[in-house]
Amino acid sequence: MEWRLTGITMTQRRFKFWGWGYADEHASQDERERLRRFYAQRFSVSHWDEIAPPLASEIPLPASRITAPDSLAPICSNDAEDRLIHSYGKSYPDSIRAFARRFPAPPDLIVRPRSEAEVVAALDFADSVNAAVVPFGGGSSVVGGVETAITGGFDAVISLNLQQLNRVLEVDPVSRAARIQAGVLGPELESQLRPHGLTLRHFPQSFQYSTLGGWIATRSGGHFATRLTHIDDLVESTRVVTPIGISESRRLPGSGAGPSPDRLFIGSEGILGVITEAWMRLQAKPRFRASTAVRFADWQQATDAVRVLSQADLHPSNCRLIDREEAATSGSSDGEAHILIIAFESADHAQEDKMRRALEIAAQYGGQWEAESPERTDAHDSGEAGAWRNAFIRAPFYREVLTAMGVMYDTFETAITWERFPDFHANVIDATRRIIREVTGRDGSVSCRFTHVYPDGPAPYFSFYALPKRGSAMVQWREIKKAASDALIAAGGTITHHHAVGRDHRPWYDLQRPQPFAAGLRAVKRALDPRGLLNPGVLIDP
Ligand SMILES: Cc1cc2nc3c(=O)[nH]c(=O)nc-3n(C[C@H](O)[C@H](O)[C@H](O)COP(=O)(O)OP(=O)(O)OC[C@H]3O[C@@H](n4cnc5c(N)ncnc54)[C@H](O)[C@@H]3O)c2cc1C
Repeated sequence: MEWRLTGITMTQRRFKFWGWGYADEHASQDERERLRRFYAQRFSVSHWDEIAPPLASEIPLPASRITAPDSLAPICSNDAEDRLIHSYGKSYPDSIRAFARRFPAPPDLIVRPRSEAEVVAALDFADSVNAAVVPFGGGSSVVGGVETAITGGFDAVISLNLQQLNRVLEVDPVSRAARIQAGVLGPELESQLRPHGLTLRHFPQSFQYSTLGGWIATRSGGHFATRLTHIDDLVESTRVVTPIGISESRRLPGSGAGPSPDRLFIGSEGILGVITEAWMRLQAKPRFRASTAVRFADWQQATDAVRVLSQADLHPSNCRLIDREEAATSGSSDGEAHILIIAFESADHAQEDKMRRALEIAAQYGGQWEAESPERTDAHDSGEAGAWRNAFIRAPFYREVLTAMGVMYDTFETAITWERFPDFHANVIDATRRIIREVTGRDGSVSCRFTHVYPDGPAPYFSFYALPKRGSAMVQWREIKKAASDALIAAGGTITHHHAVGRDHRPWYDLQRPQPFAAGLRAVKRALDPRGLLNPGVLIDP
């Protein structure tokens, strides 16, 4: 697909502005039919009155308030569809607003720098016209992190799309690290590392449509369950353009020299500077794998098994416990059992011994699996694990279908220590079920899985669906989100384990963070971004 920047014509596959992935990617007809049948049965609905996805031509946009200067014109766009793509991220409320054709505050201009010098020039231009700047990686934020409806006395909003900074610049095979530009999307990054036999091995569910800079800015979590799964641990050094100059840290395997400059920018969500590149720690491609799906009849026993496993120094690459409700929704089981997918992998040595020990632990807590599984290396591609994995990959496309049908489907995630987990889990599930019943007038579903496990606690990930009243989805979602988030914070959890804070999680983040820390963060923001141009409203008040 082609579109014109102010000065040149670009040819590139476009992201969908109202849903997930590229404009030419959708759920298949079979998938749609299956979803219609499944939810019709769940909600006793005989017919779905579906809303058609929006067309760009149906959506009136306010005129752009700024014009690109000649020096930046070749990398700027105010094309209508481009402005729609950069208005929202990919959360459920974003989806609701897109289907309602509601885009009241698109960015005035999209700037796509091709070099660090152009990032600096873009920030200078923003400063000169009093425009807020929203750094945009893949735009997969689910917390309002790239939203351009910004208040606070700005005359315009610029979305700074970093996807032209998409190259692996240097590979150091001795220390196994690479210098990588921040706007590279997951698949482009891995394909550039492949000839070197190396991988970043960071695979969030949004891998295909998110960028290295976005991962660093949001402290993303890959889908491996233990060790080296948060992007934090993979960052060796960072290079960041701030409004007062460039901050570059040293490449070091570790350092005790005061607070870490990298940790200042990891998780800064675009409010302190624009990450332009980073040296990242790499790994050899794994060659040895073992994977097994274990069934548990009892949730408490299943979680005990995972706790003991996480403390046994085995470091499984996958240790995903899926409760029976979620297993049934994803079609990966009959809903009779909780499923634990255990996997190990290594570039260096066979994994069967580790798997054998993991299964001994699972057996002590009542786990059952197919007898030949321990030696199998393909269990993640077939059977219950395979069905769940397929649903996991396709789920974001299913959400578009559900939004069109009027079904609310959303997720929230957190972390908590093991000793508090049983009460925490019961409270959060109970509060969310109750509020769904209260606001929608009927039962929905709330399910849980572990995305990551640590020796001191799991990262539970909750999914829920409900049938809101037509026209009230946004209001009812807000009530459900509030009750669930209140329950998480009241029970001692974090408002996010890896989805970030953005704008949507601010009220609970503000409760969770210590006040002296908040004061420090505000002072750092003032020092690095004195005019407050960068992503106002994220993490702290504008
Ligand atoms: C279906 C789906 C699945 C997901 N799965 C996961 C998952 O498994 N794990 C996970 O951690 N998250 C997941 N997410 C959330 C999201 O993908 C992550 O937050 C991801 O890290 C965002 O990357 P991005 O490049 O899309 O960044 P964006 O969404 O474009 O931006 C996110 C934030 O980072 C800032 N930012 C982006 N690039 C830069 C930069 N170069 N410099 C400074 N600031 C920048 C933005 O201003 C914004 O505040 C998922 C989201 C969806 C929709």
